[in-house]
Amino acid sequence: NSFIELNLSRPLLRACEALGYVKPTPIQAACIPLALSGRDICGSAITGSGKTAAFALPTLERLLFRPKRVQAIRVLILTPTRELAVQVHSMIEKLAQFTDIRCCLIVGGLSSKVQQAALRTMPDIVVATPGRMIDHLRNSMSVDLDDLAVMILDEADRLLELGFSAEIQELVRLCPKRRQTMLFSATMTEEVDELIKLSLSKPLRLSA
Ligand code: AMP
Repeated sequence: NSFIELNLSRPLLRACEALGYVKPTPIQAACIPLALSGRDICGSAITGSGKTAAFALPTLERLLFRPKRVQAIRVLILTPTRELAVQVHSMIEKLAQFTDIRCCLIVGGLSSKVQQAALRTMPDIVVATPGRMIDHLRNSMSVDLDDLAVMILDEADRLLELGFSAEIQELVRLCPKRRQTMLFSATMTEEVDELIKLSLSKPLRLSA
């Protein structure tokens, strides 16, 4: 029960070590191998379970072997609040510190111009709140999700509680059909189930 057994590459193992992670949490041990296999995943997991690294590590692993010519947004992570987006972004920067993978933060309350410029540099990963992400996609010809490989919906129950259903549906429509989608939620409500049906394909269910 170690990160080495999860078949992660050296730069990611080094990052886990630097962060003081000795062994995977239960959600990480369950999620990482399945996510690496490319399947869609829906996980019941609360904050504190280690869910961020559970979806971030396999996603980073996948990006490490991306074709070099692809300069595009490859991963979109949607969170219900600015605070959570900041946390997820910071966690990903730490896990990606020994790689050349770039991650950018798109949230309300920060300068739209600065964010637009960051998006034009085609970061590999975008961590965003739904409303702000849609604004950027509508307002910029040069920013699109055409090459997206992975979509992650974090705290799906709260995304829906906060009224982001229409925004998420629009974002799902803007992503390629062929992609991997992971959804995490503290609670599995009927609304979350509907979102799962809409955005995931043959998902594997995990709980921790
Ligand atoms: P999360 O549930 O993703 O919000 O993570 C909660 C906290 O657990 C964060 O501070 C992480 O840095 C930490 N964490 C995540 N995975 C591990 C691990 N395998 N070992 C120790 N701490 C971890």
